[in-house]
Amino acid sequence: AAKATGRNTLVVFDPEDPQTSDDSEDIAATLKIAIEHGLVSLVYQPIRNIQTGKTDGVEALMRLRMLDGTQVSPAKFIPVAERTGSIVELGRWAIRTVCRDLLATGLVQVASVNVSPIELKMPGFASYVAATLAEFGVTGARLAFEITEGVELEIDQTVVHCISDLRKLGAQVWLDDFGTGFAGLSWLRLIEFDTVKIDRSFLHDCNTEKGKRMLLDIISLLRNRGVRILIEGVETIEHQRLMQQYGINQIQGYYIGRPAPAAQLESDNVLPFGLVRKV
Ligand code: C2E
Ligand code: MG
Ligand code: MG
Ligand code: MG
Repeated sequence: AAKATGRNTLVVFDPEDPQTSDDSEDIAATLKIAIEHGLVSLVYQPIRNIQTGKTDGVEALMRLRMLDGTQVSPAKFIPVAERTGSIVELGRWAIRTVCRDLLATGLVQVASVNVSPIELKMPGFASYVAATLAEFGVTGARLAFEITEGVELEIDQTVVHCISDLRKLGAQVWLDDFGTGFAGLSWLRLIEFDTVKIDRSFLHDCNTEKGKRMLLDIISLLRNRGVRILIEGVETIEHQRLMQQYGINQIQGYYIGRPAPAAQLESDNVLPFGLVRKV
């Protein structure tokens, strides 16, 4: 398993770990050279506001190409990047790329970037964000950070401080995949989130009455806490209608738009500034 080395935990790659089989060593090696060799890229998925019919922003999602041209899913390479520490450099690259290519160009009003708690535990994360915003003349309010309540996530003071520094910059902090991890509720108690993204599994369970009641319970819990709610995994018109019925304004999913490179968002006329393609 990963070796915790105290407070600002940097996870050390352990070749003896049974989890890190051959291809994960390959991925680990590729991640180290991914930025300089242009193997890493970002795609963007729109976030639709059903009340206004406009695109509120996009989520940046990382893609990795191996040297032989094959694509590896983030489900596979993000855990490797977290274990080896590559996530720190990759995460910074993602923030910089979003600020430079999307926000500074005016292509998008608001963009969210996924961050691993490991990144938030590294000293200097918030200062890096501040410097990058300043470099590209972008206001903090146009950037959101999506944090997943992962299994290994222990919420410590370093993370709490980092999040509060990000909010001082005006940046938004969102909780991702709500309802899937162990920590969601304690996170909600300790941190003020601007938006909570409800995991798509709850929407997908809505083909039963029991599933619908579960989702409605989660929605009312979040409404009572006064956070904005976004639901992910909207794949059909029925999903969208249900969300309309439940009064959920922000939705995301394959039905609204698949993740795509920036150039494609532009040509599909999804953007800029809230123009959406007719579905
Ligand atoms: P996530 O942040 O919850 O992102 C949503 C995932 O669901 C994305 O998968 C997206 O492509 C997929 N998705 C979107 N709409 C639908 C839908 O309607 N149906 C279904 N079935 N799936 C949908 P992706 O791109 O494979 O990313 C997986 C996860 O990897 C992300 O989950 C996020 O936790 C992580 N990840 C991706 N990029 C980054 C990154 O730059 N940094 C970090 N730390 N994590 C990242
Ligand atoms: Mg996300
Ligand atoms: Mg996730
Ligand atoms: Mg999510």
